[in-house]
Amino acid sequence: MNLDLLTIEEARGLVQSREVSATALTEAHLARIAEKDGEIGAFLTVTREPALAKAAAIDRLAEKGDPLPPLAGVPVALKDVLMTRGVRTTAGSKFLDHFVAPYDATAVSRLEAAGAISLGKLNCDEFAMGSSNENSAFKPVRNPRDTTRVPGGSSGGAAAAVAAGFAVATLGSDTGGSIRQPAAFCGVVGMLPTYGRVSRYGLIAFASSLDHVGPLTRTVKDAALLLEVIAGRDAQDSTSADVPVAAYSAECGRDVKGLRIGIPREYFAEGLDAEIRAAIERKLDALRGLGCEIVSVSLPHTEYAIPVYYIVATAEASANLARFDGVRYTSRAEHAKTLAEMYRLSRSEGFGAEVKRRILLGTYVLSAGYYDAYYRKAQQVRTLLTRDFQNVFTNVDAVITPVTPTAAFKLGEKTGDPMEMYLSDIYTVTANLVGVPGISLPCGTNKEGLPLGIQILGKHFDEATVLRLAHAVEQVK
Ligand code: GLN
Repeated sequence: MNLDLLTIEEARGLVQSREVSATALTEAHLARIAEKDGEIGAFLTVTREPALAKAAAIDRLAEKGDPLPPLAGVPVALKDVLMTRGVRTTAGSKFLDHFVAPYDATAVSRLEAAGAISLGKLNCDEFAMGSSNENSAFKPVRNPRDTTRVPGGSSGGAAAAVAAGFAVATLGSDTGGSIRQPAAFCGVVGMLPTYGRVSRYGLIAFASSLDHVGPLTRTVKDAALLLEVIAGRDAQDSTSADVPVAAYSAECGRDVKGLRIGIPREYFAEGLDAEIRAAIERKLDALRGLGCEIVSVSLPHTEYAIPVYYIVATAEASANLARFDGVRYTSRAEHAKTLAEMYRLSRSEGFGAEVKRRILLGTYVLSAGYYDAYYRKAQQVRTLLTRDFQNVFTNVDAVITPVTPTAAFKLGEKTGDPMEMYLSDIYTVTANLVGVPGISLPCGTNKEGLPLGIQILGKHFDEATVLRLAHAVEQVK
């Protein structure tokens, strides 16, 4: 039996029926990682022994014939910005090369409690800063669909692991597109839950008002199943919301007739690849056929999203990353003579170039004399972006846009020009600034056979509609 590209329901079903043991399923995935990940580079740490021990425990439950928890035996893997107790957690940074997390992130402990089997920690851009995974301090990740190309970032390992069949599902983080963009580049599903929907406890912070934890999966229904497990109020994160969690998987397959869908003009302007536009239009035609109403809408402040994002995100990053000082968590420079020198050298040696660029930018926009001109102004424009969405959502149930302006680019293609790299986030950053949920799902391939993506954005805490619509988009050709 081919166990490479199972869905959550298939994997769990095999384990529950005892057709395949959790141990055999885990071993099959570990073997595939051992065989193929040398080429892809998705994993930074493989946790073979704990995974097999957990699988054995699930098998004992299955043997008793007890009903199994919702993710029993499902092989998963975790972006290395999520804390995992007793397991090395690096955030893709040399600075945390030897850091072993003392506790589990809430999303991780909820997955574990639901019976999922974690195979290890996934490569990513350093501190989740990047769009191509080329900012990992350890190694790049290659796109399993074309290994000359990037998998996207910063959750490049998380998307590649699902696409390559290393894990059935993974958890990533998304601050400006880091789940959705790699999902689009690798041809998988990536979900951004509403800000506050999933606890950020134990997520190594990049920009706290923009950071989200979310799933990467092979199908929309799998994303729904994972979200059901990880979502919900957590006393450890004061920004996690006390809003009831729906049965998201039950939304998949519900009729979409009568849904009103907004197509924001600003997202289909210059710069969008013609094949992506055509692929999205085909899906819109199919949705019309299902009884959806497609209307043109405007999100007039869209052009400011990238500058606003790169001010707010870097400002928050400069504050969050102050805790990495050579005293706690991190490696420490060896030859410093004074405390100040120890801080300076440790941070100079520990952080990579992109992280330093962000800290400098963020410190600058927060500094006396510039705060009003940059940071305050950016927050004001952020409010305008939020109002854009509030206005549109009085009229439509969801919005459909591209995920990325182009398909996956080549390794090295954009590393020389940070501005160009930043511009690749143009369609994803606004959802983080506004806090609304979104999903990126496959939308065919281009002439070169590379996957293309389509994005659905919904109202705050209305993941149910996003998933219902996404499932319909996934099913139509
Ligand atoms: N590519 C964006 C950045 O570099 C988004 C990163 C993310 O979502 N973590 O900031």
